Amino acid sequence: MIYNMVKDFKIAVIGSGTMGNGIAHVSSQAGFKTLLIDINQDQLNKALHTIENNLDRQINKNIISKSDKQNILNNISINTNIKSCKDMDLVIEAVPEKYDLKVSIFKQLDDVCKESTILASNTSSISISDLGNQTKRPKNIIGMHFMNPVPIMKLVEVIKTMHTSNSTLKAIIDISKKMKKIPVECNDYPGFISNRILMPMINEAIFCLEQDVAEKEAIDDIMKLGMAHPMGPLELADFIGLDVCLDIMNVLRVGFNDSKYRPCILLKKMVSSGLLGKKSGRGFYTYD
Ligand code: NAD
Repeated sequence: MIYNMVKDFKIAVIGSGTMGNGIAHVSSQAGFKTLLIDINQDQLNKALHTIENNLDRQINKNIISKSDKQNILNNISINTNIKSCKDMDLVIEAVPEKYDLKVSIFKQLDDVCKESTILASNTSSISISDLGNQTKRPKNIIGMHFMNPVPIMKLVEVIKTMHTSNSTLKAIIDISKKMKKIPVECNDYPGFISNRILMPMINEAIFCLEQDVAEKEAIDDIMKLGMAHPMGPLELADFIGLDVCLDIMNVLRVGFNDSKYRPCILLKKMVSSGLLGKKSGRGFYTYD
């Protein structure tokens, strides 16, 4: 039985999309009472359905039992009202990667939540310091960057600002471990570590394609076979979403004020043409 109750510590997740439903899954599986919030009720229903399907997959792989599944689902509640976060001990924000939206969520949470509540963001690239400075609790602000798909990927990149307190950091490390993740710390710089290294690699692969250095399959094969990457950079870009890749390159370019991070024109052209990768049916490759 992998299931243990973690009494009295309540977690809310804001945004029930790709990342939010995965975070709610691992949180409730760790035994935390978990509140999943979205502005869209249909999206919440869809998220619960996804969590159920993913739990069924875990049952088929003998990772959990049928009764574990029920206990895990019993830990999750859903809601469309951010004010219901008032009793939470930790709130993890996973709304779309839009600066103004995240600032407005952090300000609302700061007003609604008790003083001790930790506010974490799952942002891929937005400055955690900027988000923290919009609140009256910068010491309780931290980045908790889960990877996609959350139930499977082990890493949580834990991002500290100059104000994040040691007790906030320790709590997030403990909670990540309870969620069966491996937390790794870094400081708040544009792109943190993961995307500062990954995105320029993807961007360079797109430059290679644009300059006709090789076919797309060849670029991906060279990186898979030669560097032992499980996916080639162009396949991975399609999986992440080309719009997301472009947004992150822009954050790096502006954040470092360095043209070495300029996004490739082909990437910009594909995004403005709606070729966003897997989610739109076509990116570098075509999907059913
Ligand atoms: P998504 O678009 O799949 O989900 C976002 C959800 O937020 C949607 O369900 C939407 O209805 C909801 N939402 C929008 N405005 C809201 C509001 N005001 N209040 C409550 N809910 C609201 O996005 P995602 O891919 O899950 O990304 C979420 C965050 O995670 C982003 O910051 C992204 O950069 C980061 N991230 C994404 C990935 C990835 O691979 N998708 C990986 C790591 C980190």
